Amino acid sequence: MRPFSYQRLQPGDIATLPNHSSRDAYIAGGTTLLDLMKLDVMRPTRLIDLDALSQTDLGSIEVADNGLYLGALVRMADAADHQHVRAHYPVVSQTLDLAASQQIRNMASLGGNVLQRTRCPYFRDTSWSACNKRDPGSGCAAIGGFNRMHAVLGTSDNCIATYPGDFAQALIALDADVLITGARGDRTIKFSELHIEPTDQPDVESTLNPGELIRSFRVPAGPWTRRSAYVKVRDRESYEFAMASAAVALHLDAGTVSEARIALGGVATVPWRAREAETRLAGKRLDEAAAMDAAEVAFADARAYRHNAFKIELGKATLVRALLQVKAMEI
Ligand code: SF4
Repeated sequence: MRPFSYQRLQPGDIATLPNHSSRDAYIAGGTTLLDLMKLDVMRPTRLIDLDALSQTDLGSIEVADNGLYLGALVRMADAADHQHVRAHYPVVSQTLDLAASQQIRNMASLGGNVLQRTRCPYFRDTSWSACNKRDPGSGCAAIGGFNRMHAVLGTSDNCIATYPGDFAQALIALDADVLITGARGDRTIKFSELHIEPTDQPDVESTLNPGELIRSFRVPAGPWTRRSAYVKVRDRESYEFAMASAAVALHLDAGTVSEARIALGGVATVPWRAREAETRLAGKRLDEAAAMDAAEVAFADARAYRHNAFKIELGKATLVRALLQVKAMEI
């Protein structure tokens, strides 16, 4: 690991964050950053430790009539175990429960989790020189290489890396807002505006400006949040990244879909909202045929590479299972 300096922020510092250079990195749980520093993939010269800010609103969970507030420094395990979250936002709990090991969930923050970087092995192994995400303009070793884990949605000729997170699928499905803070104050965006598809610049992964950090997530309440679930298919059940996953929330009226919220994981380069599939289900009775039809729509634009064509069928089957599972929930 290369030398770096370390600065620990105090709770009052949230009002005036320090100047930030492109070589600085914020650290909270450290579960992604330290890995990537040891691998020499990320080389910050200063780490700015956010942990003490968990004594502010960044470390709290609040429940209101109009939704759920989740501070960015809340630990994944604490949000997953929160009684109200478990009862009223099961898809949020489940995406957190099914992510990583218990030890990681005890350490990792919600904000860091949504910003975690890809598990593409060519990105994480610096002996591969071609990786546009690590070294812009160098090419993409995965496109002609072993790409079983890679994405089939939102890819480009520059990068096909899969977005690895689970929690993000719940946030995008439930139309969460992201409150961001920085030197110029606070701003709010939709969660769907946070991540950037890897078109021209795969190394630029989010719309955060230099020095900005996520302060909180706000998940609006709705008649669909209780009838929601996350289905995750992976190579091993103990803990693993998704091969395909689906976050689904439904508002049903006597078996007919009033509103569907669908997000797909493990198959796309960013958290993926399947809006066309949602529209396809609206006003229909939800049975297996309707679910399969929606799944076809969700993957209509999928593009397979040499080793990952199976993900298209797996993704459809995962979505069908999630839709029928959520329909069968007793609310
Ligand atoms: Fe790098 Fe993306 Fe290609 Fe992986 S898929 S080697 S992260 S450019």
